[in-house]
Amino acid sequence: MPEDPDIEKELKEAEKQGLLKKILKDDLNQSNSLVIQNEIDENIHLKSNLLDSLLENIPDSIYFKDKNGRYVETSAAKVEHLKTDKESIIGKTDFDFYLEEEAKKMRDDENYVMENKEVIRMEEKITRPNGNTVWVSVVKTPWFDSKGNVIGVIGISRDITLQKEAERALYLSEEKYRTIFDNSAVAIMMTDESENIIQWNNYTEQLLGMGRDDLLNRPVRSLYPEVEWCKIRQENIRKKGMQHHLETKMLRKDGELIDVDISLSVLKGKNSEVTGSIGVVTNITDRKKMESELCIKDSAIESSINAIAITDFDGNIKYLNPSFLRLWGYESGKVKVGEPIDKVLKDKDKFVEIINTVKDKDGWVGTLKGERENKSLFDIQLSATKVKNNKNEPICMMISIVDITRRVWAEKKLHQLNVSLEQKVQERTAEIEKLLKQKDEFIGQLGHDLKTPLSPINALLPLVRKKENNEQSIKYLDLAIKNVNYMKNLIEKTLKLALINSTSFKLDIEDTNAYEIIDRVIQNRNHCLKEYNKDIKIENLIEKNIVIEADKLRFEELVDNIISNACKYSPHGGKVTIKAEREENKIRFSVKDEGQGMIKEQIEKIFDEFYKVDESRHDFHSTGLGLSICKRIVEKHGGNIWVESPGIDKGSIFYFTFILSKDNKNK
Ligand code: ADP
Repeated sequence: MPEDPDIEKELKEAEKQGLLKKILKDDLNQSNSLVIQNEIDENIHLKSNLLDSLLENIPDSIYFKDKNGRYVETSAAKVEHLKTDKESIIGKTDFDFYLEEEAKKMRDDENYVMENKEVIRMEEKITRPNGNTVWVSVVKTPWFDSKGNVIGVIGISRDITLQKEAERALYLSEEKYRTIFDNSAVAIMMTDESENIIQWNNYTEQLLGMGRDDLLNRPVRSLYPEVEWCKIRQENIRKKGMQHHLETKMLRKDGELIDVDISLSVLKGKNSEVTGSIGVVTNITDRKKMESELCIKDSAIESSINAIAITDFDGNIKYLNPSFLRLWGYESGKVKVGEPIDKVLKDKDKFVEIINTVKDKDGWVGTLKGERENKSLFDIQLSATKVKNNKNEPICMMISIVDITRRVWAEKKLHQLNVSLEQKVQERTAEIEKLLKQKDEFIGQLGHDLKTPLSPINALLPLVRKKENNEQSIKYLDLAIKNVNYMKNLIEKTLKLALINSTSFKLDIEDTNAYEIIDRVIQNRNHCLKEYNKDIKIENLIEKNIVIEADKLRFEELVDNIISNACKYSPHGGKVTIKAEREENKIRFSVKDEGQGMIKEQIEKIFDEFYKVDESRHDFHSTGLGLSICKRIVEKHGGNIWVESPGIDKGSIFYFTFILSKDNKNK
């Protein structure tokens, strides 16, 4: 073997040429042409040249491989794709250039071609040694010698990446169009030349509440009320070719009329004949509704009796309603849009404050002074609110104004009236208090004045009676003694009431066991009852450990009075029940009897001084002062007293409240 690489290269070339020439020669021989050797050689030379030029210039990859997959010849394009030179390719296999997996596939394909003597055509994606991933269209044919033996494979591959990309782009754009068509939130429908619906998107079905069976081949006019269709016809769209934003109405399957905006395009054929149309339909029912609501709102503002102004956040007028102009006595045009609204207010600084408050918060309400063109002032109530757009952004202020001049005048008058009334009430109260004091003092004085001369009479009359033998005189004396006792009782109670009412009266408050006192009162009462031979059962049901804040003596007096009344007005065999119920920091006592009861009018007066239910009864034990004293005692302790009765002969329940002692509250 020659050592010189150039010589070696030339030898290889010669060898290769020889092989190809041999093949071509065999080829020519096979065609059985009887030509002389020179012609053969010339032909061979010509073919060889042609092949060389083809391999050199063709943009496709052409290669010849022997049975073992070794490259025998390649086109210049193939050399370039493999990113090397021709010498480095010859004798090598695809495993030297491609990824193992790809090379294996190529080899398998070629083995198939050789074994089956079949041509295969395919499109595949390959990664070239230069790193480019390309789509190629490949044809692999068996390579035969002159005897028809397979000696290898001839491959031709063409880069079809651009074509593939174009195909894909086309596919994607079609898909995009499909997606837009199907998912569009507007209804898109197509008609044929006879104006029957032939295609539509999903939203159309939704908008019209119709399905495929309702829509396919349906005359498009049947989707419109007759009048609306006539209007569309009048637009002469076929002539114009298209029409945008036609507002009309369409009929849903359920009969509901919807407001729509349609844009129509007429489809035309080669000879300008109409082949159909495309309609894009938007549902504008909500917009229409809003527009009509806005219209109502506008006219409400326009005709409102309240003065209404709309300003920007610098306080410049954007709109004034007629009431506003009327209120200020401005003729229309005297205050203009764009002018500052504070021109109609006295306190301009205050208005700046109002704007800032509205900006920060949502609104401001208050009273101000309005200033007319002639500088006269009047009282107004102003409420300013922020107006926002549908993105919740503040866009302007709405100011509503009411003339409150008369109200302010009336309020002023009312205030003056109240002040003088208050003064009068105070004077009267002082007068009444003075009179009440005088009354209490008078009663007290009268009591004392009566008590003094009554004492000797009260002491002497029983002695005189003892010495008297005349029966008639004894009778008179007994009557006199009864009356003197009654007077004594009355005077004592009058003095007690006067004492409790006096300003100097003080309670001696201490922790008081209510059970014990009530029990003692019951014992005494039982004793009296026995004496009077009255069979009444008194039941003390209150807890033994209830301790209240009370003046022991007064509490006993109170309980004694109520229980003695209950016994007094109970029938023979009646029952009196005493209970106590806790209410937060208070205790509510109740004394229930089964006695004569009372009606509403009596209930209302029963605690009044000197009130007796039955005035006609000359009861020497009754003064009509007992319950007044009770009321004063309870009230002095900070409690309440009241009575309830279902009616005459149905018994009564007296209630009174006391404050629980601190020790007791938590129990
Ligand atoms: P009196 O000293 O006359 O008993 P009170 O002030 O204690 O005076 O009572 C006023 C009036 O209330 C009595 O005349 C009586 O008619 C009525 N009264 C009081 N307690 C009862 C009761 N438990 N049942 C029915 N009436 C009662």
